[in-house]
Amino acid sequence: MPARTLQLRNFTSILEDIQIRFQAIAEKAISGMTMPTTESEQLLKDIRTTQQTILQRCQKRGCQPADLSDAGYRGFLWLIFLSDPDHFKQHLQFLSRFLQEWKAKTHRVVSVRMYNSPFVFQCKPGRDGYTVTIGEGFVSADPQTVQILVDCSVRSNRRNLTQLRALSRSAAYKRIMELIWQHSAQSSRSTHGNYYDLQQLFHKINAEYFQNRLEQPRLCWSSRRATRRLGYYHPDTDTITLSCYLDQQSIPPYVVEYVLYHEMLHKRVGLKEVNTYRLAHTAQFKQQERKFQYYEEAEKFLKWFTRT
Ligand SMILES: [Zn+2]
Repeated sequence: MPARTLQLRNFTSILEDIQIRFQAIAEKAISGMTMPTTESEQLLKDIRTTQQTILQRCQKRGCQPADLSDAGYRGFLWLIFLSDPDHFKQHLQFLSRFLQEWKAKTHRVVSVRMYNSPFVFQCKPGRDGYTVTIGEGFVSADPQTVQILVDCSVRSNRRNLTQLRALSRSAAYKRIMELIWQHSAQSSRSTHGNYYDLQQLFHKINAEYFQNRLEQPRLCWSSRRATRRLGYYHPDTDTITLSCYLDQQSIPPYVVEYVLYHEMLHKRVGLKEVNTYRLAHTAQFKQQERKFQYYEEAEKFLKWFTRT
């Protein structure tokens, strides 16, 4: 493996520490005290310093933040977003509202993590209380949305989960996600594999199957060698990720191209909604998929490959 992705030491615990401090400040703010100014000023300063340090480390090694691992890059973009005093304030306000609403509904202990996470919402019960992770896209949420988020955490049902899904696809949510990901410049190091270059393959497939009409998403190799999920398209961030497991000499080019083609189709076709579920592989999608020149061969190879 080349030094394709830059690892940041202790990054997870640094982010966790920031989350804990955010919540502590928000708790103080709602307990009747005025906003603890010194603490929030210090937190904003630390967020900026952390972001700067990451940039410097990248420069020192001659690469860009886009060369960070998927998780590292997410965190980095989150820090940039929160370095803006307005976003920082919004983030704190959201947390205060959420916690206030939470306390009005339940006495259970909660850790709230609002983050640039790959998912929009997650609530996990644990020994020390609940951990609720909320997509940063909700940062500008109105009181009603906050209420739905709390409802989903305390007692989720089909109705409020449907509401939540709809909200996560709102223009407001999308606008925040675009703000966060606007810095995601494509790095040539992140598309160059040992054997395959995603950028090159993208242009080839775009010309052959999409009349060059598909706008280029962010392309990257995964940092983990996933053997089952070989590729995925993330619409919120407009990113196609291919498992670096495919970047081997033993994988024929038509297989890598086929997986990329599949993900490009996801970008083009979008998701069809049936009831509350998102249907990705519709009949129409499968029909498009078969247009790939080496469809049969690629399918056969992947069947054999993912089984071994
Ligand atoms: Zn798919």
